[in-house]
Amino acid sequence: MESRDWAGAQKSSITVNRSRATRLGILGAVAAVFAAASVGAANQIVDIRHHEGPDATRVVVSTTEVASFKVFRLDNPDRVVIDLFNTRPARNFSVPAVDGRMVEGVRSSPRRRTNYRVVLDLRQRADHREQVLAPDGPRAHRLVIDLYPVDEEKELTTGVVPPARDRDIIVAVDPGHGGRHPGAVGAGGVYEKTIVLAIARELRRELDALPGFRTVLTRDGDYYLDLRPRFQIADRAGADMFISIHANAFRKSSINGAEVYVLSARGASRETAKLLADREGGGEAPGFGPVSLHDVDASVARIMVDLTMDSKRNKSVLLGEAVLGALAGTVKLRKEHLYEKAFQVLRSASLPSILVEAGYLSNPGDLRRLTDRAHQRRVAQAIAKGIRDYAYMNAPDGTLVASMVEAGALRYVVKRGDTLSEIASRYRTSTRILRHRNDLPSSDRILVGQILFIPFGKASG
Ligand SMILES: [Zn+2]
Repeated sequence: MESRDWAGAQKSSITVNRSRATRLGILGAVAAVFAAASVGAANQIVDIRHHEGPDATRVVVSTTEVASFKVFRLDNPDRVVIDLFNTRPARNFSVPAVDGRMVEGVRSSPRRRTNYRVVLDLRQRADHREQVLAPDGPRAHRLVIDLYPVDEEKELTTGVVPPARDRDIIVAVDPGHGGRHPGAVGAGGVYEKTIVLAIARELRRELDALPGFRTVLTRDGDYYLDLRPRFQIADRAGADMFISIHANAFRKSSINGAEVYVLSARGASRETAKLLADREGGGEAPGFGPVSLHDVDASVARIMVDLTMDSKRNKSVLLGEAVLGALAGTVKLRKEHLYEKAFQVLRSASLPSILVEAGYLSNPGDLRRLTDRAHQRRVAQAIAKGIRDYAYMNAPDGTLVASMVEAGALRYVVKRGDTLSEIASRYRTSTRILRHRNDLPSSDRILVGQILFIPFGKASG
């Protein structure tokens, strides 16, 4: 948990996360008001920008001053309204022509003499999240609105299921490289970026089929992403762990096998030093829950950072060992131990993180296997098993997995199309055990909506 607060507490930004109530349209508006530096000075809206990301659409409203504003959603047709108080358009301001996946158009107009309204016309219902960013170099004050598509079907189902439900463990899966960065290149023009995306998608399929797990891919297509947005995607999803997938290459083609990396102790202490230096410099420093590093003296700050780094590194090692152990039975490993390295991707992530090199594209055998779908799936299955083994032993409080471990059984609601044997194989148990545990007649007939208890054994298979 500490890690999430760390990433979330940026001094320069305030995030207002919309509750479910808003999503259902019950709660209309929340005003976030910021102390304007000079009272009475009319704020000016400078520009509006529209940007489409892989899983969200971002609209950025730039203003000359800190704006008081209100953002709310209206239905029929779906739109998001941004009211800026005490604001007028700058002289050269114009509304952009937008024709996006999510945003159909942008309109704006003055309101009640001193206010200014921006309307985003949407193509579909959307959740939104607001963020206020302070000026940064040449960039003005910015109000950032991120729009996420609403899964209407999901919303419908969660409406009938009791809301007090344990949350899923969120696994951020990060396929390396992408777009103009192919990563390692194997004979015949096989790109690392392609292989690792295929494995990541298989891994998502595996994990999403497990009860209590949900996957978010940092990249789900062939485009390039910096490290920062990758972590942002993980943070925004509330990820519990970060799994980076890569494939290696080496000048000696004989080198082969998969490798699992965790942040080295040296990398960790470098990161610690950097965080403390940032604090000394008065720059952005991580928060720990409600406490900012700026609020405590140097020795306390040091202890806080050390503890957090230690805990992150310890968890990463446990996660890495579990994944390594699962891979060992499936694919050839380069060496049967964890590798430690100060990879930037492992340093920056504020979550337990590992990096898996699935094999060497410079080795003919590995190359052949890594381009084979069945092998890609086996690698993904092994990584998923490792993640599951780790999670079962280290389940965060409040998760379904933690409840399962505690209760020794999973409650499963039968869905349309389910059969007992298929459920049994999905949860690695037998129809006999399910029948016995649930007092089922031997006909194996199950009904949609029926609750089955699925005994929860130690991670196996
Ligand atoms: Zn790579």
